[in-house]
Amino acid sequence: MERDVRVRAVVTNTRPYGEMHRSVTLLTDSLGLINAKIFGGRKGKKTALAPLYSYGTFQLYHNPVNDTYTLSEEESEFTPLGIMKDLQATYTAAYMCEASSRLAGDIPQSVCSLLCSALKLLDNNPDQSRKVLIDFTWRLIQSSGISAGFDSCPSCDRKLDENEVMLFSTTLGTPVCKNCADDGKLVLLPGCRRYLAYTQNMSIEDAFEVKLFDTAQQRLRDFLIMWISFFSQQSLQTLKSGLI
Ligand SMILES: [Zn+2]
Repeated sequence: MERDVRVRAVVTNTRPYGEMHRSVTLLTDSLGLINAKIFGGRKGKKTALAPLYSYGTFQLYHNPVNDTYTLSEEESEFTPLGIMKDLQATYTAAYMCEASSRLAGDIPQSVCSLLCSALKLLDNNPDQSRKVLIDFTWRLIQSSGISAGFDSCPSCDRKLDENEVMLFSTTLGTPVCKNCADDGKLVLLPGCRRYLAYTQNMSIEDAFEVKLFDTAQQRLRDFLIMWISFFSQQSLQTLKSGLI
């Protein structure tokens, strides 16, 4: 027997399903990542349902026999307007959805709600997609339960000088002092280190208001992308475009 399910979710992918229908991938707050069919989602009265990168509360039917979902209704909370007008913002949204899907695991609720906030922020500031990427990625890393220290080295406990750089430890999965690092390729500069420490417990909206110069943004982006790729175990497809 079919079962009604209500979930809050982000639409992370949408694709045609036959001539008339559509299939969507949803990052939900309670079921993790699922696929759902929208009958009449291509040519029919349901074409406006569940646009890409939108979020809301969805009414689904679950068929337990073949474990499939059908999407029937949506109470939309957010539909993007600015993201699709900007190429870099579009790629950034795709990256945020992929990284969230990869890391949602046991904590879908917090990742889903972070992704909702990040997409809304990106939609309002499509010309600042790199800054949104930085603030989003730092929060995603934290939500995965990774603790990082920036005052002292998490490996040897040595107190760090204010102007000291940090490198990465693939053993601990965090930035460490240069003596403890086993990956010297990417450097966390003192300014970037202070930024991560300062914004650590802020909401993404508050962190976004904290200024970070362009050159520092570039370096911090590279560092955070390497960090998140390390945790997702494999490289993220959306980063291969080289456009973000
Ligand atoms: Zn150390």
